[in-house]
Amino acid sequence: MAPSTARETIFSGIQPSGELHLGNYLGAVRNWVALQDSYRCFFCVVDYHAITQPFEPAEMPRRVRDMATDLLACGIDPARSTLFVQSAVPEHTELAWALSAVTPHGELGRMTQFKEKSEKNPDNINAGILTYPVLQAADILIYGATRVPVGEDQRQHLELAREIVRKWNARFGQTFAEPEALFSSTPKILGLDGQAKMSKSLGNTISLRENDESAWGKLRTAATDPARVRRTDPGDPDKCNIFTLHRFFSSAERQAEVRTGCTTAGIGCIDCKKWLFEGVKADLHRIRARREELLATPQAVDTILAEGARRARAVAAETMVRVRQRLGVAGPKD
Ligand code: SF4
Repeated sequence: MAPSTARETIFSGIQPSGELHLGNYLGAVRNWVALQDSYRCFFCVVDYHAITQPFEPAEMPRRVRDMATDLLACGIDPARSTLFVQSAVPEHTELAWALSAVTPHGELGRMTQFKEKSEKNPDNINAGILTYPVLQAADILIYGATRVPVGEDQRQHLELAREIVRKWNARFGQTFAEPEALFSSTPKILGLDGQAKMSKSLGNTISLRENDESAWGKLRTAATDPARVRRTDPGDPDKCNIFTLHRFFSSAERQAEVRTGCTTAGIGCIDCKKWLFEGVKADLHRIRARREELLATPQAVDTILAEGARRARAVAAETMVRVRQRLGVAGPKD
């Protein structure tokens, strides 16, 4: 069944980092799964974005496939959403080029992520890192998406996309709507070190593919309220990342039990983490079972991605016809 076109359209992309971890899941993918019932959703594995960072070409197909498999295992439903790989829809990069003609160069250089990536990889400050937000704008606009589920760290890029739309429409006539952010009420999640954002490279997260023993090993040693040094010290759940995680995985009753137990030193941090792990485990097991189902059917993921690309391309091709007309360029002859 194709998704309804009467609903507002959203677009969101994720880099093929190989496999999902708890931070991606809680910060983005769980939200995507929930949005499927209310929006016409386009979810994309953005492989062309990934090539702006150091990478190994031979690894790319596996990274893309693993990410798509994990998204499906988490609950992205191809009957309700269009799931596809960015490079399978070449209109993304074509539109990005067209949009670059109205994108202020100075704005790109001011993007915080450009500065951070340039500092992190001073030997690889390529033009792709600079123009990355233009491709992001194209990803959104090619589907006429009016809503974009983003975290705070993407707000600046979305603002730039809106500016690109205003400049384009002023120059070439009304073509695109300004996309708006769709912020979730997700609490800010820190890594298990209680300091930095969850990230695979920092090793402060749990992979959705991790087994119970390994996942519990990481959770057991995760940072808690730093003021709670001894078992007899009362703690403050609002200063503890473990409690933040309880808000995703535990019932309201269990959260209340944690709050009382923590503030009165009635429970220890290991008890608290064992309770949390019950919820984490339930999600990991459900995702694992679905992944195994997918992997048991040869070609299942490839078929879903091919159908997603076909659907996405039908929409993207229509947009590009309008864009080329506005520009007065011919485009391909069929
Ligand atoms: Fe954090 Fe739970 Fe320990 Fe309180 S009891 S400090 S909420 S881990």
